[in-house]
Amino acid sequence: MRPRFVDFHAHLDLYPDLENAIRTCDDSEVATLAVTTTPRAFPRNLELARKSSFVRPALGLHPQLVAERASEVSIFEDLLPQSRYIGEVGLDASPRFYRSFERQKEVFERVLRLCDSAGGKVLSVHSVRSAKHVLDMVEAFLSPDRGRVVLHWFTGSASEARRAVDLGCYFSINERMLLSPRTTSLLREIPQARLLTETDGPFVERDGLPVPPGDVGPTLSALGKALSKSQAEIARSVRQNLSTLLA
Ligand code: MN
Repeated sequence: MRPRFVDFHAHLDLYPDLENAIRTCDDSEVATLAVTTTPRAFPRNLELARKSSFVRPALGLHPQLVAERASEVSIFEDLLPQSRYIGEVGLDASPRFYRSFERQKEVFERVLRLCDSAGGKVLSVHSVRSAKHVLDMVEAFLSPDRGRVVLHWFTGSASEARRAVDLGCYFSINERMLLSPRTTSLLREIPQARLLTETDGPFVERDGLPVPPGDVGPTLSALGKALSKSQAEIARSVRQNLSTLLA
């Protein structure tokens, strides 16, 4: 079934009711990447999304959890053949997580090498305060013909965005990012053909409540404004970009 909308980074299993969140995305025909933060969460996501037309679970190991869960990379490795989609993975060099940065790099290198040797994976990648390191590692350990990278909530510089484009990366954009003037200027560096939408729910909130699962409406409207296109036009190109990414 063809989706109407795309939410390429959502934590459906962190909403109070995963089944209900999946149903919401199906009812609104949103192609949703249900990322996980630990590989232990993946089997339940896989099981509950089995009958979904629009939700695809991703196998993840979040950089913010690496300090306590680095050893789960072996579970990640065991489950890897069961998923084409990988995420949330990446690096986080913000002050709270900087202590584990070296561990994070080891884990991310392992993830990239595993994906490179498996081939055909699509990754949703976190890069808080670490865009340069993330891009260095993607370049070193994941050949463009062995896997595809979608940078989620990218906050790097304009030149880092250009470098990411040159490396073949896509970008998933959420409504919170679009409140920052920085994102508007980043959008000048990113070809429209590399843009996807995401909610990053339930972490992104609207009026003090988590965004409803799959609700990318405000993102599409803000992207439309930033790019001087209609919301429908943006929605159409995002759907097209998703099918190109997955082809
Ligand atoms: Mn996330």
